[in-house]
Amino acid sequence: MPKKRHVGRFAPTPSGPLHFGSLVTAVASYLDARSNDGAWHIRIDDLDLRRIVVGAEKQILTSLETHGLKWDGPIVRQSTHRDLYQAALENLEKQGLLFACDCSRKALAGQTKYPGTCRDSNRPIRDNSALRIRVPDQPYQFNDLIQGIYTENLTHTVGDFVVSRRDGIPSYQIAVVIDDDEQEVSHIVRGADLMDNTARQLYLRDMLDRPLPRYAHVPVFTHASGVKLSKHSKATAIDDRFPTQNLQTALQLLGQPVPAEKSVAELVTTACANWKRSTVPKTPSIINFVSV
Ligand SMILES: [Zn+2]
Repeated sequence: MPKKRHVGRFAPTPSGPLHFGSLVTAVASYLDARSNDGAWHIRIDDLDLRRIVVGAEKQILTSLETHGLKWDGPIVRQSTHRDLYQAALENLEKQGLLFACDCSRKALAGQTKYPGTCRDSNRPIRDNSALRIRVPDQPYQFNDLIQGIYTENLTHTVGDFVVSRRDGIPSYQIAVVIDDDEQEVSHIVRGADLMDNTARQLYLRDMLDRPLPRYAHVPVFTHASGVKLSKHSKATAIDDRFPTQNLQTALQLLGQPVPAEKSVAELVTTACANWKRSTVPKTPSIINFVSV
């Protein structure tokens, strides 16, 4: 059988400019794909209109281009996949896996695991009901290419989780599984803060009969204060005037050699040739990082 093509992706939410933590993830997934002769796709996570900031998508794409991260094929927007998500939900519904949940946010406040309130109550599905999926009492395990073996039994961690939100928007878990499958993504390189989402996605793939990709979770970079570098922190938006320095800092944080090349294109090519998953730090977060 011919070897399946290596396909990677980066899936930003256009809720603000690219921040440094996301640049690090983009660099990692780009290098991982390109060093394996793979394709690298961009997918825009634009399902939740309330989070979208006008102009942010263009700003993110400009930053990626400025940093020499060139993608393949057309940009995919999640908002164009609604019928695919709906078909997946109908499939799960037919299997008897879904139930309507009318629990208010207040009723569930402070609980990390859904207590199962509506699981057996046979509530009718109303327009404003959330849909949850019944989870099995069994461990899901994967061998992360950076973090190693990870095992999770959803019954003990999150319980029956939401697949369609109260506002009718499909959950991140459904969207990411369908999108990665549609784009034939073989290697998912993303932040370690999504490590504990993986078992939910493996379970959905299992139920939807989709092939399993490989996962590689890179550390989430935090400020010296311990605050995650996120879009909410304006101070950490990357400065496109200094792509070489930004790339060098990203490579250093990823445990890679730091090439001295001054041109962005040369630097990215050298970084690609050097890329090693084995030297990426195996910690879920790195503190004491001061942004450039
Ligand atoms: Zn409920």
